[in-house]
Amino acid sequence: LTTFAAFHELSGLEPLSGIPGSVGGGLWMNAGAYGGEISNALIDVDVITPNDEMITLQAAEIGFGYRSAPVLQDKVILHSRFKLTRGNKDSIYSEMRRVWRLRREKQPLEYPSAGSIFKRPAGDYAGRLIEAVNGKGVRIGGAMVPHKHAGIFINYDHATAEDVVQLIREIRQRVYDKFGILLENEVKPVGFKNDPFEIKS
Ligand SMILES: Cc1cc2nc3c(=O)[nH]c(=O)nc-3n(C[C@H](O)[C@H](O)[C@H](O)COP(=O)(O)OP(=O)(O)OC[C@H]3O[C@@H](n4cnc5c(N)ncnc54)[C@H](O)[C@@H]3O)c2cc1C
Repeated sequence: LTTFAAFHELSGLEPLSGIPGSVGGGLWMNAGAYGGEISNALIDVDVITPNDEMITLQAAEIGFGYRSAPVLQDKVILHSRFKLTRGNKDSIYSEMRRVWRLRREKQPLEYPSAGSIFKRPAGDYAGRLIEAVNGKGVRIGGAMVPHKHAGIFINYDHATAEDVVQLIREIRQRVYDKFGILLENEVKPVGFKNDPFEIKS
C-alpha cells in the first residue's frame, strides 16, 4: 500500500513503510510507526459483522487507539478507503527510504521475529524497561532478546513457540518484579487454551 501510494505521488503513509502484513491486519491492530498510524489516513471500511451483514464504518466510529481498533475485533474487513494528499514523488520516496534506514539500523531485521512483543507502557518504553532488568541477550532455547533492540524478540536458532512464550514470561516477570509494571503484549497468542503470558503478580 505504501509503495502503491508513493508510485501515485500520494503522501501520508510514509511512516508505515516497512511494516509487514496486509492492510486488513494493519487496520485490525491500528499498526503504526514513527509518529504515524494507519488510522490517521483512513476514511472508512466495509466490513462483515458477526451477523453476516455488510456495513460501512467511518474511521471515527472504530474507536482507534494505540495499537487497538476495538470495533473491528469481531469483523472481517473487506475494503478500506484512505485520504492522502498529493505530494512530490521524490520527497515521498526519500522519506520512505529514511524510515527504512531507521528500521534497518535499530531493528534486528536479519532474524525472524514477530515485531514488537509488548505495547509501549504509558510514559515509558518497553525496550528501556527490558534493558534495565538486564533483558538484552537473555535466551531461552532458540528465542532471544537481541542486543540490537530489547523490544523485538528474535528466533535466534530454531525457536519453538514454547521457547518464545517462556522468554516473554521471563521478561514480563523481571519487569514486574523490578518496576511493578505489567507489560501488555502486542503479539496475540494463537492455539493456547489459557493466556500463555500470565505471570505471578
Ligand atoms: C519485523 C516486524 C516489524 C513490525 N513492525 C511493526 C511496526 O513498526 N508497527 C506496527 O504497528 N506493527 C509492526 N509489526 C506487526 C505487524 O504490523 C503485524 O504483524 C501486521 O500488521 C499483521 O498483519 P497481517 O496481515 O500479517 O495479519 P495476521 O498476522 O495474519 O493477522 C493479525 C490479526 O489481524 C486479523 N486480520 C487480518 N486481516 C483481517 C481482515 N481483513 N479483517 C479482519 N481481521 C483481519 C487476523 O484475524 C488476526 O487476528 C511488525 C511485525 C514484524 C514481523
